[in-house]
Amino acid sequence: MPNKVPQALYAIIGGSSTFSINFPEDLNEPDIKIIDDGLIFETPFGDSPPFKLFKVGEKSVLTCKMHGWRRGVTRADASRQIFWVFREAGTKSILAEGGVGAVNHLLNLRDIVVPTDYIDNSMRKDVNLGSDYLLIMRKAICPDLHNNLLEAAKKFAPARVFERGIYAVTDGRHFESPAEVAVLKQWGADIVGQSVCPEVYLAREIGACYAGAYLVVNYAEGIVEDWKYEDLSKIFYNGSEMVGKILLGALRSIGDMSTCECANLRKPTLLKESD
Ligand SMILES: [Zn+2]
Repeated sequence: MPNKVPQALYAIIGGSSTFSINFPEDLNEPDIKIIDDGLIFETPFGDSPPFKLFKVGEKSVLTCKMHGWRRGVTRADASRQIFWVFREAGTKSILAEGGVGAVNHLLNLRDIVVPTDYIDNSMRKDVNLGSDYLLIMRKAICPDLHNNLLEAAKKFAPARVFERGIYAVTDGRHFESPAEVAVLKQWGADIVGQSVCPEVYLAREIGACYAGAYLVVNYAEGIVEDWKYEDLSKIFYNGSEMVGKILLGALRSIGDMSTCECANLRKPTLLKESD
């Protein structure tokens, strides 16, 4: 087991949309080079899931899968392990993807939403790496990375792309009931899923930028019509390449000059006891 985490300014947390392919190899893009695979690191929160290190052009990227969890590892610990590795790697830009349910009835299956905000309805509020920061969640989704994802999505998505939206986070692993979806809708949510939190807090904690692009794979209960398992699995398997291309396209377009405030939106806590 390697103890030293390689340096990588960029990272991708793979969700359900790239789960069924070997990302990024299966995309056969000429500027991709796999450097290392199956990297498991010892962290204070247990052994990490396997990471892959690859290059897209000159950029070093670490990636791992958020799904397919190892038995006995909680979702909270898995998130801590992943972000501990990112912190060690000096990661500054983190992209995410995943399948979501449509809460907004204007959405269709296969639309891509690049959300600008979230509502955390998960129970995992205290997932941190132990640093003493006051985390300001103003513009929590990095506006710069959001734009990189949005432009890539417009290029590679065959269906519609929505450039703003609110992602409601639930714990899962079950879907939501019609009454729960009605509440989320009243709160102003557009899509529902199980990523974004606690990742967005952990990204803030390590001073990194975070944004994601999400593929609508089903209608939430009570929205438009009862979703069909066949549609869900078709989108699950057929959307992977497109989502992979969006991620790589966004990575390529990330520039050196960031204009976002993300790194300044964590401040020293005021609640520390004096020595
Ligand atoms: Zn940022």
